[in-house]
Amino acid sequence: MKRVFNFSAGPAVLPLPVLERARDEMLDYRGSGMSVMEMSHRSKDYMAIIASAESLLREIMGIGDDYAVLFLQGGASLQFSMIPMNLITAPASQSADYVMTGSWSEKACSEAKKIFTDVRVAASSKSVNYSRIPTQQELTLNPDANYVHITSNNTIFGTEYPYLPDTGSVPLVVDASSNILSRPVDVSKHGIIYAGAQKNLGPSGVTVVIIRKDLMGRQANLPSMLDFQALAKEGSMLNTPPTYAIYILGLVLEWVKEQGGVTAMEQHNIRKANKLYAAIDNSAFYLCPTEPLSRSRMNVPFTLAKPELTDAFLAGAKAAGLVTLKGHRSVGGMRASLYNAMPEAGVDALIAFMQEFERTQG
Ligand code: PMP
Repeated sequence: MKRVFNFSAGPAVLPLPVLERARDEMLDYRGSGMSVMEMSHRSKDYMAIIASAESLLREIMGIGDDYAVLFLQGGASLQFSMIPMNLITAPASQSADYVMTGSWSEKACSEAKKIFTDVRVAASSKSVNYSRIPTQQELTLNPDANYVHITSNNTIFGTEYPYLPDTGSVPLVVDASSNILSRPVDVSKHGIIYAGAQKNLGPSGVTVVIIRKDLMGRQANLPSMLDFQALAKEGSMLNTPPTYAIYILGLVLEWVKEQGGVTAMEQHNIRKANKLYAAIDNSAFYLCPTEPLSRSRMNVPFTLAKPELTDAFLAGAKAAGLVTLKGHRSVGGMRASLYNAMPEAGVDALIAFMQEFERTQG
């Protein structure tokens, strides 16, 4: 068996101890005589798995009792629609603010436009190819909006909010798909935090939604499967939940806790990202398209001063066991995703390869 350093943007690297534990428990989950995949979601064993995943997430993120934690399906993409559908209220206030910082914000915004007649762009960095995050001063927020939506980390463009926007009494809704659990956040300052699991939380197939309870139940006639209130009432078991994905999520949360929680994750992520950005910035051969103050710790895009060498770079990296480094087509070049589970040794190996490539090809 040979494991590579996988820099995929998602689905992405998982902690090795999590995969080993899942392997060990694959055929006989803790004396049950069956795999978690084969278990009824109503069984005692499974009810304990989902309850423990929720309580660990609450503990690690410091989620108060005034918030519900949901494990849903449909990806973060379904939340682009579910959130406006659930948060639209009386006809008098039919407005939502979106801050545009990349392709995922654009997608979220265009889904909201199908529900709200008035969707405002509170700020956008599109004119600079989303290479920076607008500052608090640049946000033109509507104090009567139903909510303000941001994408806390932009997986494709490699930018991340260095601050938490102050939205006054308007609920802040955050797509945290690609940086949840990478740093401490004050949950109490949010209306909703949502994230597809397949970057920092586990495998694809489960989406975590953390929602302030007073934001649920505002809409009476939603289809039940799209209604936060109905889903919360049944403990995310209005239908069969993605049982195995939630089990792996629980193992990832145990691993995060053992590592020292989100504070330790943040230190580890700062170290990894700083090293890689320094290697890029200290060389004229590598270029980073993002503005330093807006740079993501999770997704690091970079290009070559000689773009014609990009294919050779990717092929050489792959041969060195450094895979999935090809950049998104809207940015080009390379993208290294450094989620929680990427070991520092992976970043060291990437930097060593970059230096060697520059020495031989530069
Ligand atoms: N938001 C962000 C920030 C993402 O990175 C992604 C997926 N890469 C999505 C939303 C969409 O997630 P999903 O595929 O789970 O619908």
